[in-house]
Amino acid sequence: MTTIDDLPIRDDLRGKSPYGAPQLNVPVLLNTNENSYQVREDVVEEIAKAVQAELRDLNRYPDRDAIALRTELAAYLGHGLTTANVWAANGSNEVQQQLLQTFAGPGRTALGFGPSYSMHPLLAAGTGTEWIGALRDPDFGLSPEAAVAEIERHDPDVVFLCSPNNPTGTALDPAVVDAVLAAARGMVVVDEAYIEFSRPGTPNALALLPGHPRLIVSRTMSKAFGFAGGRLGYFAADPAVVDAVQLVRLPYHLSAITQAAARAAVVHREALLATVEAIKEQRDRIVSTLRERGLKVADSDANFVLFAVGDDQKAVWQQFLDRGVLIRDVGLKGWLRVTAGTESETTAFLNAAEEILS
Ligand code: PMP
Repeated sequence: MTTIDDLPIRDDLRGKSPYGAPQLNVPVLLNTNENSYQVREDVVEEIAKAVQAELRDLNRYPDRDAIALRTELAAYLGHGLTTANVWAANGSNEVQQQLLQTFAGPGRTALGFGPSYSMHPLLAAGTGTEWIGALRDPDFGLSPEAAVAEIERHDPDVVFLCSPNNPTGTALDPAVVDAVLAAARGMVVVDEAYIEFSRPGTPNALALLPGHPRLIVSRTMSKAFGFAGGRLGYFAADPAVVDAVQLVRLPYHLSAITQAAARAAVVHREALLATVEAIKEQRDRIVSTLRERGLKVADSDANFVLFAVGDDQKAVWQQFLDRGVLIRDVGLKGWLRVTAGTESETTAFLNAAEEILS
């Protein structure tokens, strides 16, 4: 049987593992930070109408520049941003891949502060970028001084910050973004995939965009919008950054169907984002219930919670799965991550936790 090793693949990809969160068929799915709520029926109808209107023209290529969608996304973001400040792709994974293709790649470096989103180093690998894995403090915090010290030491071409950070859940002190912008020579990507779930008073990085042409704020419709299957991510930045990614984006990368569906979803955002408060409630319920049980739990500004389970997190993960609850082993020794779902999913998780961890 032929294996990967028999093929003439790139030397720098040999031995690497693909992204692989398990997709299992169990009753309670709380492992990939999806929004547990299905798309509301009235929005389903609006999206269906928008997609239907495109079908006859599928003989033609879609708008390469996705202008109508980017205009709606800019209106959602506010902060005086316009179409020229916003770029969209098939998920923020593709957005970030395009950014690495543009600003990193062979002979260049990207730096991130782990534990953080596992795709950042994988996207670096895929684009031939050397990854520099700096570390957060043992309590998962990141101070401006520690961040700047790593940047001065490595002088990366691209810096990834993640706020709220996956998998730890906590938002960054905005002073870190400020300090990193001042210290870095290269581009600074702030991955704000979960920003809509942050606790009141948590600032985002959009306000820092004016006067910072090397800052990029990455967002997604996969989480708060509950649109993970629609595959739509986007970034906000100086218009020059949008011009720059045109050099690497595939022509017509966003299908007419994706553009129409995503645009209808953004137009009806109020209905979709209405789930955010309920999810935050369940998130806070998980944090307080696990803490009452004496477990160590990271503060969360996201739709997930990281909690300590003792040395063998793999065995504990399996015990949850045996009870029909799929959560995530992010490869962080002693910790597991659970997505905040509906009230009944959260109850199922907490009941399982009570049995397993008490
Ligand atoms: N950034 C972070 C921090 C994430 O956790 C995820 C999804 N798990 C993404 C980006 C990518 O999501 P998508 O490609 O669906 O936008």
